[in-house]
Amino acid sequence: FMMLTKQLIEVRNILKTVNQNCSALQLPSIVVIGSQSSGKSSVLEAIVGHEFLPKGNNMVTRRPIELTLVHTPNAEEEYGEFPEIGINNVTDFTQIQRTLSDLNMSVSESECISTDPIELKIYSPTVPDLTLIDLPGYIQVINRKQPPILKRKIVELCDRYIVEPNIILAISSADVDLANSEALTHSRKVDPYGKRTIGVITKMDLVDPEKGVDLLINNDYPLELGYVGMVCKPPGKSGFSRQLSLTQKSDQYFRSNPIFHQPDVQVGLTALKKRLTTILEENMGQNLYGIVDAVQNELEEVRYQYKVQYNDRHITAESYTADIMDTLKHQFKEFSNNFGKAEVREEIQNMLEEKIMEICKELYYDDPKVAAFPSLCLKDLVWKSKVDMSSAALTKSGIGRATTQLVVDIVLDELREIASKEPFTYHESTCDKIIDFSSKLLKKKFHTTVDQVENTIKPLKFEVECTDLEWERGKERAINLVDRHIQESQKKLQDIRSQVGRRKLRTAVKYLRHQNQKKINSHKPVTPTPTPKKEETKPSDETLIPEQLSTSLDNLEEEEEAQILKKEMTKPRQYNPILIEKAKEAMELRKEIAVLKGRAAALRSRQCSGSNGKSCCPEAFLSVISQKLANSAVMFIQIELLNEFMFQFPREVDNKLYYDLSREQVNQFACENPTIRRHIELQKRKDALELVMDKLVYLVRRQNELIRRKELN
Ligand code: GDP
Repeated sequence: FMMLTKQLIEVRNILKTVNQNCSALQLPSIVVIGSQSSGKSSVLEAIVGHEFLPKGNNMVTRRPIELTLVHTPNAEEEYGEFPEIGINNVTDFTQIQRTLSDLNMSVSESECISTDPIELKIYSPTVPDLTLIDLPGYIQVINRKQPPILKRKIVELCDRYIVEPNIILAISSADVDLANSEALTHSRKVDPYGKRTIGVITKMDLVDPEKGVDLLINNDYPLELGYVGMVCKPPGKSGFSRQLSLTQKSDQYFRSNPIFHQPDVQVGLTALKKRLTTILEENMGQNLYGIVDAVQNELEEVRYQYKVQYNDRHITAESYTADIMDTLKHQFKEFSNNFGKAEVREEIQNMLEEKIMEICKELYYDDPKVAAFPSLCLKDLVWKSKVDMSSAALTKSGIGRATTQLVVDIVLDELREIASKEPFTYHESTCDKIIDFSSKLLKKKFHTTVDQVENTIKPLKFEVECTDLEWERGKERAINLVDRHIQESQKKLQDIRSQVGRRKLRTAVKYLRHQNQKKINSHKPVTPTPTPKKEETKPSDETLIPEQLSTSLDNLEEEEEAQILKKEMTKPRQYNPILIEKAKEAMELRKEIAVLKGRAAALRSRQCSGSNGKSCCPEAFLSVISQKLANSAVMFIQIELLNEFMFQFPREVDNKLYYDLSREQVNQFACENPTIRRHIELQKRKDALELVMDKLVYLVRRQNELIRRKELN
């Protein structure tokens, strides 16, 4: 019949796992109070059957101990656990004692008392199902080292616990006048009629048996729940003899004297245990309906939230994780579908085109005589040979490595892009893992791919044949390329203009030109240089060197600027170094635009068609080569690198991000997403409350049956 307490303790533990510490669901506990040295620890240890509480003079109890006793009828072993700190299965009770001592001592002496309880569960076939709370003993005199507020703090702590519906176990020593009993004084404050206080008189061996019996059938301080007499240490002995069980030792004293055998007198450990379980059980019974109501309310609220917020959709950490992996694989699939041969070729070609521009800049555009190139390209041997140099520069620039790296970078960038969006933003370490194993997969294939590409392009390093059609296409691409670069440079120039201001920029440019001129003059002091005005007399575009070309481009508002410049020159002032930098940049850009415009015109002219094209239009020729390079490279990159990677990636996702994870890790992963964490938590709470409700319904039915049977008798 004693099962309500056990079941309700279980209920409480279930609710605790889902942080459901709602006060309405609080179950009654037995709170143990008494002054220091009243024998409180001895009584608790007698109940548990082991020494396990810290001993010492120096305030060893600084935190409440919430002691849950679990009766395990068929178990052979007794053990304790500290669920909050994750210490389980401690079979050595001195170890429990040590742990309790450490946990108590973690509260500093100046703080003296902490309200944060220590949770301890003890499983044993000899203990009843009980929840006991051990509190620091009341003190009368504080010692020198203890802070003066200690006394008050202990009272305050005990006051928090001796509230309803808890049962008070008030411990008083037989050899101290009960009028002075701290335990009774404090319990009377909250329970004046002793409806929920049970008195324990310890050290019965220290008074005459007659006086002892008088204390137990106490009429001066009556308690409805009565008194129980205890002896926890037989007289004359300094400690318990180890062979006898604690119960035997405790009860021996009373057995020997018939005065204790009266029906109204309750003595000994067996009686105490029985009294406590009965009282707790009755109390639980009285509280049962209230608890059911509270759980019912809570459950309804949680069900409502679950419906409103999550539409009753069930989710688990596993299903979420699997979903995420599917999303990842799906997004990757989409990417790989859109990143076929054509796209890879396009990317490689773009990269090679940038290379073409770099080569042309170095070999042609930066040459001061570039403006004369269209006329030099056929006559001048040096200029003629440049095209072979440039094609070698392109084919021998490490195309294998560069193209493979390019594709690797694109793939990794794409993965980073996927990782930067929801829901992956919550899972940073997972994203790191993705990049990590992808890099490794790609790296494994990197070198063979590079070698393969180099091998296939080898013929192009020696000779490039080119059909008319290829030439036309190459030319077209080259024109687009040059046009694009013109636009880019114009855009940059435009940006500088709007940053600095058109006028300011122009003045600074003029100033720079003036400075340059001065430098040139100082190098050639003998021959007087003609003024810029004179030089501007219509040079033909063909023979212009870039410097002059760009000068001719801005002769707007010439007069006005000349005025400003004059002023600036006569009263020299410090130019802002940033402005000077910008002006230099602008001059470079102008020069570049002029050259490129010349090249665009040349590429469109007759000069670029027919047999002369190659030497006179290196851009077109290099474009033809780049197309051939891209075509060859793409095949092997596709076969060696991408196909393999696209195939392996989803498998790695499954292995590394899902199957490799423990349950714990899957949970952790899912909870990284706050929405999912809340969802799972609410769901767990709902599940726990539903389970608890089932148990409670069963208990209520039983309880009702018991009551009906009692009424029938
Ligand atoms: P606490 O400070 O209230 O926890 O009290 P303890 O349980 O530590 O006991 C205080 C002292 O009283 C110890 O020296 C115990 O040995 C002694 N004591 C406890 N119970 C008895 C008893 O039944 N008879 C006698 N003679 N001494 C006892």
